[in-house]
Amino acid sequence: MLDTIQTQFQELLASNGLQLNERQLEQFDAYFRILVEWNVKMNLTGITERDQVYIKHFYDSLTLAFFMPMEAVRAMADIGSGAGFPGIPLKIVFPHLQLTIVDSLQKRIHFLEHLTSELSLSDVSCVHGRAEDVARSAQHRDRYDLVTARAVARLAVLNELCLPFVCQNGMFVAMKGSGGEEELAEADLSLQQLHGKLERKERLSLPVEDAGRTLFFIRKTASTPAKYPRKAGMPAKEPLVRK
Ligand code: SAM
Repeated sequence: MLDTIQTQFQELLASNGLQLNERQLEQFDAYFRILVEWNVKMNLTGITERDQVYIKHFYDSLTLAFFMPMEAVRAMADIGSGAGFPGIPLKIVFPHLQLTIVDSLQKRIHFLEHLTSELSLSDVSCVHGRAEDVARSAQHRDRYDLVTARAVARLAVLNELCLPFVCQNGMFVAMKGSGGEEELAEADLSLQQLHGKLERKERLSLPVEDAGRTLFFIRKTASTPAKYPRKAGMPAKEPLVRK
């Protein structure tokens, strides 16, 4: 039987066109339990109240699916996934996804491997490494239909970390808070250099909390130029912004 938090979660998603079945609700329940259990021994999230985790992590991660047809996506990469956001919630709701997670912190990769095994999620690969290095390998470069990043870096930096993973005509979705607009203003050079074109911008508020969010949908228009991404650390140290 569903409790109030699960019922609200299910209804909020249904009103945005996402229907969850019993197995998926159980997977979210297990995700919450494993997240707070591991959070005691390692830093995964500052949000641990159950109702807050459901809205600020699970629901928030799923918002991009309100605006794009996920059925058309096969290979997806989530860069700087941390405790699994937005990659794991999307994989739970869209089990057909072939999900690759990239994070530079080994401990978080270890958590994600445990989590995906406990949730019986297949077709999830957790890669330990810096996005700048991982995107240099042929296995990951110019390869993914969809690439996501939430709370990893400002947009001018993210474009260099994430666009190299996207296949030609694929999509990069940057999930931002309410301050996304200023980041967009300085991101034009990085978009131009990495062959990204802003196709769509969506603003929304999280239910209950009423926190503003901005989603940038960036289309990859051509394959990644050989010089990008620059060596690990450079995109953050010297972002591609006009001086
Ligand atoms: N996306 C998650 C979320 O929304 O809760 C985690 C956000 S956490 C603030 C940022 C994560 O990005 C961390 O787990 C960090 O290890 C990872 N990260 C930062 N820079 C990275 C890079 N260059 N390559 C891969 N992972 C990176």
